[in-house]
Amino acid sequence: MDRIMAARGGELRCKGWRQEALLRMLENVLENGENQQELTVYAALAKAARNWDSYHAIVSTLKSLEEDETLVIQSGKPIGIMRTHKYAPIVVMANCNIVGRWATSDNFYKYQEQGLIVWGGLTAAAWQYIGSQGVIQGTYEIFQSIARMHFDGSLAGKFILTAGLGGMGGAQPLAGTMAEAVILCVEVSEARIDKRIEVGYLQRKTASLDEALAWVAEAQAKKESLSIGLLGNAADIYPELVRRGIQPDVVTDQTSAHDLMYGYIPNGYSLEKAAEFRKTAPEQLRADAGASIAIEVEAMLEFQRRGAIVFDNGNNIRSQAVQYGVENAFDIAVFTEAFLRPLFARAIGPFRWVALSGDAEDIRKIDQYILKEFSDNEIAVNWIRLANKYVPVEGLPARIGWFGHGDRTKLALAVNAMVAAGELSGPIAFSRDHLDAGSMAHPNIMTENLLDGSDAISDWPLLNAMINCSSMADLVAIHSGGGGYSGYMTSAGVTLVADGTSDAELRLKTTLDNDTGLGVLRYADAGYEESLDEVNKKGIRRIDTNRKGNA
Ligand code: NAD
Repeated sequence: MDRIMAARGGELRCKGWRQEALLRMLENVLENGENQQELTVYAALAKAARNWDSYHAIVSTLKSLEEDETLVIQSGKPIGIMRTHKYAPIVVMANCNIVGRWATSDNFYKYQEQGLIVWGGLTAAAWQYIGSQGVIQGTYEIFQSIARMHFDGSLAGKFILTAGLGGMGGAQPLAGTMAEAVILCVEVSEARIDKRIEVGYLQRKTASLDEALAWVAEAQAKKESLSIGLLGNAADIYPELVRRGIQPDVVTDQTSAHDLMYGYIPNGYSLEKAAEFRKTAPEQLRADAGASIAIEVEAMLEFQRRGAIVFDNGNNIRSQAVQYGVENAFDIAVFTEAFLRPLFARAIGPFRWVALSGDAEDIRKIDQYILKEFSDNEIAVNWIRLANKYVPVEGLPARIGWFGHGDRTKLALAVNAMVAAGELSGPIAFSRDHLDAGSMAHPNIMTENLLDGSDAISDWPLLNAMINCSSMADLVAIHSGGGGYSGYMTSAGVTLVADGTSDAELRLKTTLDNDTGLGVLRYADAGYEESLDEVNKKGIRRIDTNRKGNA
């Protein structure tokens, strides 16, 4: 079969742009994905559809779907078509949701083996992945926040150590150089290193630790930014640096540590050996991966004791380490709590848009609009300037931009008007990461240590999905899984199509206001000052009642 690429241009294969847009978004996650043959988009097992049969059925259904019908998808498998109405979503989906008591990694693997379920990641099964760019601004904002909090506002001359150059982790080297740092990325797969060099996210590669360290020292001395891919295993390299007394300024890891079977490669294993053991000795593989993670996390803790800023970048490495004997792994902070919570408390998060025509000029025109109309929004303007300069096009041209309540609506409505006026080559799809203010409960990533202790309450993403369906979004998805696959998190995703119509205007306004509005209310409910300020400033209609008792 030919490699799947997203369709470009103005020709419709479906009965309307809403259906065509979602079809292109599906094709685009595969075009940008890590292993198309397996339908795997990123994070070892995050899939775009249950299997090829399901994929083809989804494609043919979208092509024939009427505007007043809704396609229902369960864990990447199309289940049926419901007659709804033209303001209902075109697609609703639920991926990898397992009843709490049964939500274990073992059950996930079993159900997956039985063909009952797929893990959708956050944006893979919901067709919202836009290549490594999707996490790049988040990673950049983390580095910027570290610079402000710990290094007088600049990472110039500072050394970041990390690992993993996969679908998400591949954004790290570019985010690091954008933040003016020297970043060393340890990766076991040479093909992954080469891919990041090919797309312009990574500058140099070597298999020699000595050479890598010489490059780091040279760039640090000159205060020049540099990204290096080092072929090696993090569980070897991190402790070796500790032994040599080499001290990075910032340390993290973005290997697929959440998955001991298909993700994290134990030290002493080649990729081939891991593939072989997956079939012949899976328990041994998992035990070895867990033991390697423990070694790596011990080294991270030692870097922290010696003064480095060390953080978990959302891959559940700390939980795995605890299970394999590192009792104090949670001495390492998680990135959301440590660096991004003040933004999420105002519902400022990873908003994104995709030029469905394939014309990169559309993205540049939207960039120009943002630079002009959001000139007082420092985060947005700084980012758009950098993204314009550094972020290459991957798949359908797209842009990520961290915007909050009201600003997302303003931008989307302006873009819809640009589409209507013929100023852009085609419609634009708007979406966001599930890792957003009102749409994710993940007690070890997004919601760790909330002020009111509501870390594990998953009512919020469920409410988010329901309110977005009620608000006429084009696609709404509920996911569970996260690091360790089951029982770790619940999240919700949403996609909207700005096709220039007045119906699109209505959908965009209602959904985007309510999506971020709920995000602000979620954090206001947990007691965050920033959110209460946002409620007052932006007139969000909050109902404030007592939590318990009748006092
Ligand atoms: P991926 O599977 O595409 O890539 C992981 C990479 O790690 C692979 O290239 C693999 O070869 C490499 N690797 C595995 N074991 C290694 C080891 N011991 N040493 C060195 N390299 C090793 O996964 P991804 O999409 O890049 O995601 C990585 C992790 O980040 C996942 O756990 C994912 O859930 C998490 N994640 C976090 C965020 C966030 O917002 N912070 C967002 C998305 C994903």
